[in-house]
Amino acid sequence: MIIFKFNSVIVQINTNLAIIQPLHLGKEQKVTIHVLRLDLIHPIISGNKWYKLRFYLEEAINAGFNEIATFGGAYSNHIVATACACYKHNIKSVGFIRGEKNFPLSRTLQEAVSYGMELSFISRSDYKNKTTITANNHIQNRYWIPEGGYGILGAKGAESILNTVPLQEYTHIISAVGSGTMIAGLLNGSMPHQTVIGISSQKNNLSLESEILSLSFIENHRKLILLHEYHFGGFAKHPPELLNFMGEFWNKEAIPTDLVYTSKLFFAVRDLLEKKYFNPGDKILVIHSGGLQGNNYLPEKSLPF
Ligand SMILES: *Cc1c(COP(=O)(O)O)cnc(C)c1O
Repeated sequence: MIIFKFNSVIVQINTNLAIIQPLHLGKEQKVTIHVLRLDLIHPIISGNKWYKLRFYLEEAINAGFNEIATFGGAYSNHIVATACACYKHNIKSVGFIRGEKNFPLSRTLQEAVSYGMELSFISRSDYKNKTTITANNHIQNRYWIPEGGYGILGAKGAESILNTVPLQEYTHIISAVGSGTMIAGLLNGSMPHQTVIGISSQKNNLSLESEILSLSFIENHRKLILLHEYHFGGFAKHPPELLNFMGEFWNKEAIPTDLVYTSKLFFAVRDLLEKKYFNPGDKILVIHSGGLQGNNYLPEKSLPF
């Protein structure tokens, strides 16, 4: 159990549960695959969201802000994680949400509200301009966290994910990519002999690479490989083939995945193995980045886990 102490308030994150789970997958190719189960560290602030928020929260609290504002969609893990973390720290939170308000609210937003988050809905066209939203809604003592935790502090938090593993053993680190904040941190924390592979959850997000590199140390830039062909039609798109894979993967490995990020990640890992992308003897660390909020796109009980 690690206890992070921010001034007087304490958040407990159970890193005892952040276990490394070997997969059956890869045995045939003589490739070792270990999954870092960040999905298990906290029931709500699960996975990479906690790590990305750490240093923003610390900065806001240390500087005496009493309110935190951030951005996200109706199914955003980041929104719920921020709401929950602020609730635990007794800080007011405000979420600027993309799109019109729909009734009922998504389960994700209901959960954020249950942690006391105030929601403000922004039309899709206005949402594109975060600078204007920030300027129009800035009040004293309100600290802004960028969408998805994207930024230097977010990457610094994500880098600390690697402190929990025997890092030198691995030849490759592979993770899902949304805003690119997490993988920028992984890249910064990686060792010279390692390759870092990112599976983009979006279709044709070609600015992603420069966004990642702008948060990472130059000496690591050559080690990044971004793969753009595992989006299954686009962000949060989930054709039956993907949902079948999620069920199959659960049956074989007992690992739950979400339809936005980690299902596409593990599908890519399996596909790369089948294509002999890795060499026998390679040892791969797969980051299970947590957050099953994306499965709220489906009716309840659609998945076997
Ligand atoms: C947010 C999220 C990601 C993407 O992280 P970025 O830092 O935005 O790239 C990946 N996996 C899960 C489960 C997430 O919730």
